Amino acid sequence: MSRPTRFEHNQYVGDKRNRIVHDLDAATDACAIDELMASEQFAAFGPDSLAEARNRGYRPHPACTGQVGGGAPAVASRTGEESDSDQ
Ligand SMILES: [Zn+2]
Repeated sequence: MSRPTRFEHNQYVGDKRNRIVHDLDAATDACAIDELMASEQFAAFGPDSLAEARNRGYRPHPACTGQVGGGAPAVASRTGEESDSDQ
């Protein structure tokens, strides 16, 4: 799947309809990025990071981000959530 032209400088794009954030570097058919672009209900983040997306209340899409989407979104700080994934 090719990266949407208007997001060529962004890695992450959010879907305002369901508050899901996708990683364009790893987007799959399940992400329906083309459909999202057509809907124009997408959001860019600044800084362009998953942490920023989560701060804004978006949940990472498991299929492309590799993150578990369940649970409450992390707020403000990522410290603590990496404790069991690093070692
Ligand atoms: Zn996705």
